[in-house]
Amino acid sequence: MDDQPAIRIADARKLYGSGEAAVRALDGVSLDILNGEFFTLLGPSGCGKTTLLRLIAGFETPTEGRIHIAGADVSDDPPNRRPVNTVFQSYALFPHMSVRRNIAFGLEMLGRQRGEIAETVERMIALVQLSDMAERTPTQLSGGQQQRVALARALAPKPKVLLLDEPLSALDLKLRKEMQLELKRLQHETGITFVFVTHDQEEALTMSDRIGVMRGGRLLQVGSPREIYNHPADRFVADFIGETNFLSARVEAEAVVLQNGARVPLASTRTPGSMVTLAVRPEQVQLRPDGPIAATVRQVVYSGTDTHCYAALSDGTQIVARLQNPPSGEVGLQAGEAIRIGFAEDAVQMLDD
Ligand code: ATP
Repeated sequence: MDDQPAIRIADARKLYGSGEAAVRALDGVSLDILNGEFFTLLGPSGCGKTTLLRLIAGFETPTEGRIHIAGADVSDDPPNRRPVNTVFQSYALFPHMSVRRNIAFGLEMLGRQRGEIAETVERMIALVQLSDMAERTPTQLSGGQQQRVALARALAPKPKVLLLDEPLSALDLKLRKEMQLELKRLQHETGITFVFVTHDQEEALTMSDRIGVMRGGRLLQVGSPREIYNHPADRFVADFIGETNFLSARVEAEAVVLQNGARVPLASTRTPGSMVTLAVRPEQVQLRPDGPIAATVRQVVYSGTDTHCYAALSDGTQIVARLQNPPSGEVGLQAGEAIRIGFAEDAVQMLDD
């Protein structure tokens, strides 16, 4: 594996249209995607994920900035001259061709040798586990099977990079979970760099080596799923990735003071008197008798392995705790009950206001 990144995006900007009506789809994105990694672009609708993917593919040209793939500046190259392939949400299979022909077609267009094509097609069909269905046409396949064909077809020419634009969004939840594992396996087995676009945070967390969180045409944070989940860079990331409790607080020496006056021991390097927002995951909220925060249980929701306990502080601030159920039974909590809450110190993220 060489050291240069698979993809280097240098200060990419993209404006659609001009003048007053121009849309700033990308607003200065710089990013290195490493060789052989599963990289996910994550963000809400309209944040610029697809635009960034289309810039890498060459379907769009940047208004400013450069795109490098495998060390070469491809900014001015058309899509077919770039060592990338794309899997679209719509699959875009040829409906009248068999699975085998669908996979072979692109290789024929590239002028590959007959023997090599036959060998590659069979290997791809085996890779995506469709050997029994190779002579069927797409209309005779389920959504998940069609998705596998689309993947096999895109992987067949051995691109350096595979771009995937919300490829699982048309599948139902169960199939989607299966295909998530399948995609991860395919990426691992082929060693090809995957750039995956989704607005589904859970999908991003389960599949990726690294995630880039986007908002309003900018990259807010790049990191491993663990880094992004445990150390979100700001309130937006904390809120977008998983459930989070936000509590306003004032910094004191060795403690923070919540709006209702509760004093929570917490070391900070911030200036005493400054205002912060504490971000705490529901699973890191502890119910314990010596907890510094008094609260009242409002609602208790049982969900199999966990119980969500919704509580209110004296000033009305809502807080949710996710508690693990004991092997048999439930956590014994009742609405109206007085509880005390605490957090493990390293579980609290302090965000600037
Ligand atoms: P989604 O998840 O909804 O697909 P996205 O994060 O992929 O969203 P983009 O499709 O990259 O977002 O769009 C970013 C912004 O650019 C949006 O405001 C969108 O409306 C705008 N946009 C995208 N394509 C064009 C276009 N061809 N012409 C004008 N504006 C566009």
